[in-house]
Amino acid sequence: MKRFVLAVALAALVAASGFSVALAKPAAPPPKDIEKAVFIHYRAPGKPPWAGPKEPKEPKEAEGYKLFRGGVKWAELPVSYAINENVDESARVEIIAAFEEWDANTSEELYNDEVGTTGIAGAIRDDTNTIAWVDMDSSTIIAMCTFWYYVNTKELIEFDIEFNTQFVWGIDPDGEGEEYALTDAMDIRDIATHEAGHALVLDDLYQNQYAEMTMYGYSEYGEVKKISLEPGDIAGLQKLYGS
Ligand SMILES: [Zn+2]
Repeated sequence: MKRFVLAVALAALVAASGFSVALAKPAAPPPKDIEKAVFIHYRAPGKPPWAGPKEPKEPKEAEGYKLFRGGVKWAELPVSYAINENVDESARVEIIAAFEEWDANTSEELYNDEVGTTGIAGAIRDDTNTIAWVDMDSSTIIAMCTFWYYVNTKELIEFDIEFNTQFVWGIDPDGEGEEYALTDAMDIRDIATHEAGHALVLDDLYQNQYAEMTMYGYSEYGEVKKISLEPGDIAGLQKLYGS
């Protein structure tokens, strides 16, 4: 009874004050502690001849690497991942080599040597880190790395890497950057090394001065320079996971 009287009195007070006050508490917003982000890897844009020499203004990344949100990363190592079952063995070997390139530049064991096989493809939040080829219905997006992380702790939860089937893909015959014969295909290991850097989480670099780095944000057919890490890539890796 007392509560009823109070409610009536409060309603009368609100009515008298002219305020429109909702007596019921609004529903709490859903917990927003997990965020999804995507790194999109584009084919190098062709510069029209009439375009000026000016590059888009970007903050300088003096060290040659860029962290995401100040350093989103894995809290627990090593990270396990699985390659889609439709990826043939030779491509699978290239992808694993690409991931191991990062492992070779820190004393931490970043990626589990036991690589799984999965029927899953695409960016699906399912606690499985997957790598697959998918049709992206785009002629400019080469690959994407989607990842989820806890906003408050910056702890990485999951990544999924997708390569676009709309591009021609190939494998450098000697597996190295120098003697290269592929000119009409995206080199799997080249692009995979870049994407494996995103999975750690290193951000893209777009300034010309970083064009030789693995984390440079554009690629082209025949490119192999991303296969080996450059000083900036290694500095970023070691900033996150130690030397
Ligand atoms: Zn990228």
